[in-house]
Amino acid sequence: MRRGACPSLAAPMETGDGLLARLPPAAMPPEAWVALAEAAQRAGNGLLDITARGSVQLRGLRAETLDLAAQLVPAEWPRGALVMTSPLAGEALDETRDPRPLATGLAAAAPPGLPPKATVLVDGGGALHLAAETADLRLVARPEGWRLGRGGEWRDAGEDDTAFAAALDLLRVMAREPRRQPMAGTAGPPPEPIGLHRLRDGVALGLGLPFGRVDAETLIAFARASGARALRGAPGRALLAIGVPDADALRRHAATLGFITDPADPRRRVAACPGAPGCAAALTETRGLAATLAPLVPPGALLHVSGCAKGCAHPRAATRALVGTSRGLGLIRRGRAGDTVAEMLDPQDARAVLAREFAAHA
Ligand code: SF4
Repeated sequence: MRRGACPSLAAPMETGDGLLARLPPAAMPPEAWVALAEAAQRAGNGLLDITARGSVQLRGLRAETLDLAAQLVPAEWPRGALVMTSPLAGEALDETRDPRPLATGLAAAAPPGLPPKATVLVDGGGALHLAAETADLRLVARPEGWRLGRGGEWRDAGEDDTAFAAALDLLRVMAREPRRQPMAGTAGPPPEPIGLHRLRDGVALGLGLPFGRVDAETLIAFARASGARALRGAPGRALLAIGVPDADALRRHAATLGFITDPADPRRRVAACPGAPGCAAALTETRGLAATLAPLVPPGALLHVSGCAKGCAHPRAATRALVGTSRGLGLIRRGRAGDTVAEMLDPQDARAVLAREFAAHA
């Protein structure tokens, strides 16, 4: 696969637990999620991830099961990851504008030659806006029209048709020019996906996946019980059940299945990448450690447990980071996984050390 390209079913990525393929966030009917989970069971290792951006990953695929996976994943599931919309696009009651026509048009008209990881955000606004996400090109809904941003420069782009033309011009420039630095999202906490969201027609229920992971059996049980119009991955390693008949009953059921139903759940204050053995680059196990340490993390703090200095689960600074190094487990205070290690820890002592660290933080 090309360096920097997103892993897909056509070009999966080698990891510690086999090949990994990523599908972009998409609102799909529950039966499509059941089919996806069955693909994970039959062609992969039965584990799925929802990423920080709401994409879905199948793990543990093998060269000889890729064709089967491609057959089992619903054909309607979008494959292109260029254009991303706000997760309740066209549904949220508080949305400023419906981003779907622009997003669909741009995805279809995108010129060849764009950088492999180019991202265009079409943000309709509302509570689950995309302001915190990094992108090469941003279209943000305002009541008076779209705002178009690239490279830190913003301009008014008017209604859908003029915004489409202006964005397409910039995509053509991006296809010709060397890649500029993407525009970082706004600082500050991103929107909270967990909980109830009012729709034009009904409600959506947002749930968290512990460290972004769910097994296929659990996902199938949830999808079948949801009664939702659609399910969608959402930024924040969350799953949205859109248009549910009885949100309270579904929330209780989701809790019994192991989903996170409360935004104050301490696991939401820990970012942890797959670590060993899931990632070939990992120098330590991560998620077991993260689950053990989560109750120690106070509200307002963030613990990052990273298998190596790359820091995939949280590229920004965390209150404390534990990182796998060739020398063992390193502790970083107020930094990123790649920053200088303040001290090395014996994993046996991690609980006691983190309790002390977070007591001092409080
Ligand atoms: S941070 Fe390192 S160990 Fe974790 S997923 Fe990324 S490359 Fe793998």
